Amino acid sequence: MPRRPRVARTLSTLRRAVASFRTAGEKVALVPTMGALHEGHLSLMRLARRRAQRVIVSIFVNPAQFAPHEDFASYPRSLDTDLALLAKLGIDLVWAPAVELMYPAAFATRLVPEGPAKVGLEDAFRPHFFTGVATVVAKLLIQCAPDLAVFGEKDFQQLKVVARLTADLDLPVKIIGAPIVREGDGLAMSSRNAYLSPSERAAAPTLYRVLKDCARKIARADELPRLLDEGGAAIERAGFVLDYLEARHAETLTKIESLKDGPMRLLVAARLGRTRLIDNIAV
Ligand code: AMP
Repeated sequence: MPRRPRVARTLSTLRRAVASFRTAGEKVALVPTMGALHEGHLSLMRLARRRAQRVIVSIFVNPAQFAPHEDFASYPRSLDTDLALLAKLGIDLVWAPAVELMYPAAFATRLVPEGPAKVGLEDAFRPHFFTGVATVVAKLLIQCAPDLAVFGEKDFQQLKVVARLTADLDLPVKIIGAPIVREGDGLAMSSRNAYLSPSERAAAPTLYRVLKDCARKIARADELPRLLDEGGAAIERAGFVLDYLEARHAETLTKIESLKDGPMRLLVAARLGRTRLIDNIAV
């Protein structure tokens, strides 16, 4: 059986391990996760492996990015299974801090990102979200001090927020985006897919089907508003409550009207029962 990665639970253990990597002249990558690992997460780690000699995976379900009505308490946690998966990938170190370590009682500093964090996509529906993400990602990057960190394009707006934040704070880390990993039927892998009932699971691939269909038609006809309206209607017909289906500039996430305005990304968020799903695609 492959050896399980070392699990650091204190800053001094983490720092000693990172210092030993550095002394050996090894490049260090960080892959931040909230655990409940699936193939999407593992693809980020494989990418990290190719770019660095040492890979740290952080597993921390970050309370600061959940609103009180959201699923922090019920978010899937499966550290034992996660560690077995990480062993197979040859991950060197897992950083699994307790909530009290990350946010001690006197904790009083938050990062409030703007720019890509304020474009009216996820931020419009989860106003607390990017402050929680930016604060925890900054802490993880400072704690682990990696040369590079890998984030999934699955959370496309988050990837842009993290890239902006590291540039703005002059953090010496390269942020790498990794492509979305999907189930056979197109549904983007997500720890939250476990919440879907069998009938919801059957309807869920509609999201990607509509994205693909819209992207293809926009590339051909460039008739944005009509195509997005039709796409949104198809998503609602499948039983979703649509939060947004939008075409944005792939770099800045600002609104664009046409392919002539720059590279385009379609982004969608919709709720199926109590589960909120997000996805996106390049046009
Ligand atoms: P999470 O544990 O959901 O916070 O995700 C941790 C990292 O994995 C984030 O950078 C996500 O964007 C990425 N990720 C989650 N699902 C996927 C997926 N299906 N494909 C690629 N990356 C993903």
